[in-house]
Amino acid sequence: MLGLMSNKNLLISSLIEHSSEYHADTEIVHRVSNGNIEKTNYKETNIRIRRLASALTRMGIKLGDRLGTIAWSNLRHLELYYGISGIGAICHTINPRLFKEQLIFIINDAQNKILFVDLDFIELISEISNEIPTVETIILLCAEKELTKLHKIKQKVLAYESLIENNQTLDKWPDFDERTASSLCYTSGTTGNPKGVLYSHRSTMIHTLAAANPDALDISSTDVIMPIAPMFHANAWGIPYIANMVGAKLVLPGRHLDGESVYNILDKEEVTFTAAVPTIWLMLFEYLDKKNKKLKFLKRCVIGGSACPKFMIEDFHKKYGVEVIHAWGMTETSPLGTVNKPLRKHSSLSQEQKYNLAIKQGRPMYGVKIKITNDDGEALPHDGKAFGNLWVKGPWICSGYLNMTNSDVHDENEWFLTGDVASIDQDGYMLITDRVKDVIKSGGEWISSIQIENIAAGHKKVSEAAVIGVKHKKWDERPLLLIVKAENVKKDEILDFLKDKIAKWWMPDDIIFVEELPHTATGKIRKVELKKTYQNYFVNPHKESDEN
Ligand code: ADP
Repeated sequence: MLGLMSNKNLLISSLIEHSSEYHADTEIVHRVSNGNIEKTNYKETNIRIRRLASALTRMGIKLGDRLGTIAWSNLRHLELYYGISGIGAICHTINPRLFKEQLIFIINDAQNKILFVDLDFIELISEISNEIPTVETIILLCAEKELTKLHKIKQKVLAYESLIENNQTLDKWPDFDERTASSLCYTSGTTGNPKGVLYSHRSTMIHTLAAANPDALDISSTDVIMPIAPMFHANAWGIPYIANMVGAKLVLPGRHLDGESVYNILDKEEVTFTAAVPTIWLMLFEYLDKKNKKLKFLKRCVIGGSACPKFMIEDFHKKYGVEVIHAWGMTETSPLGTVNKPLRKHSSLSQEQKYNLAIKQGRPMYGVKIKITNDDGEALPHDGKAFGNLWVKGPWICSGYLNMTNSDVHDENEWFLTGDVASIDQDGYMLITDRVKDVIKSGGEWISSIQIENIAAGHKKVSEAAVIGVKHKKWDERPLLLIVKAENVKKDEILDFLKDKIAKWWMPDDIIFVEELPHTATGKIRKVELKKTYQNYFVNPHKESDEN
């Protein structure tokens, strides 16, 4: 017998219908590329989104068409998230920091018909304009009068504001199957080509419902929320969707993400909740320290994308009164998989024990399941000690990649192999020890690069640290520690600092001080590049040492 309840499809358009009706005058604030801050609200934004949807429908855009965006986190990008998906087309967010070859690959793989491009990326789009044959129209995210210098764009070029101004609004959002694809985001492709992760309305809506909960990101209508995690990667961690669901004031920071700019907007807009990778917070901390500033309004801060070092959790709490929510996820997981929130029983822990718990990547949100296996696929115990290959499954975890029929990372029971190595404790708290390709294999045993670098990053004279496995005659690989100094420091000081914090055989064989570390388009340390640079360092140290 079937239940007698509404079968209404879970569609992304329902989020803006809700916010414009029940949170109409709640503000949306965004910073444009010249640094100015502009303000609107949910009601006005919904009107613009309906006009955009109507314009796209008139242009002949249909269910399943892929429309790309190359844009910062700003109002027009938010409108595109909803306007494109709302009519059943697919909003393909493209990361402008990818290599040119990768951009060309993903635009062609996705067969984008239209690209919506921020003016800051005109140069970029001109350079690849000849190599993206499926793209018929480029819509620049600007007013008609700003369409001055078109460079060498071969496609038809329109101004976004003319679309919005010249069209009637859509009367009613169309209804369709909730399993319809809604948006598309490619993985960064550190090895091989990027892979297309295709989200559906259903997966996005369930992820949104789950992510706002108190035991996940804990966002409500009383918050002022600002995703720093960009809208061009992994849905800005779902925050643009949650914003409309709960009706929180939304702040979109645009392109300026240096310490001073982030501080100014946090302070001016009274942001209570934000989210970003650790590198963003390093820049903010540096600015706060230098200017002796406090964070008056910020209450919670989600950190993910890379492991959050303990010192960051401590500093946020002790110096600024901000609770860090450490989370783990991937493009393939929409992206939230696990979130670190303490349980009731943890209230009696000492502060130090609480920090030690907070460095774990957290427990699965409702809907997500995780497990670890050895290389033969046998399940490993959840005892907080055993570590192995991490698998994940759930309604917002990908079941395949766009245009790829064979996947060696999906099994027949819907488990997805993440490429991460982790342990899981009795309460389900997961600790990522490494990515499989970064783990250091020394004399048949595994050394966690993440753990060493996070401890090293906690030294006050260290600004950033990376640990890589480097070829070694006797042990196969040994750890090499690369450090960006915050102030003058000697190797011995660092080694002393590490001594009682890690096993003896985990101690790096050497330390190299570097000016900076290379980062990927999503803010992670580019270890592939470091490994290549230092591959023979322990075999032939003099050639490759930068400085000592
Ligand atoms: P890519 O950069 O390849 O596109 P994603 O942005 O999807 O990948 O990043 C996913 C990966 O980022 C995870 O598989 C994991 O290795 C890493 N990651 C994400 N969050 C954390 C975290 N909190 N701690 C450690 N690693 C993390």
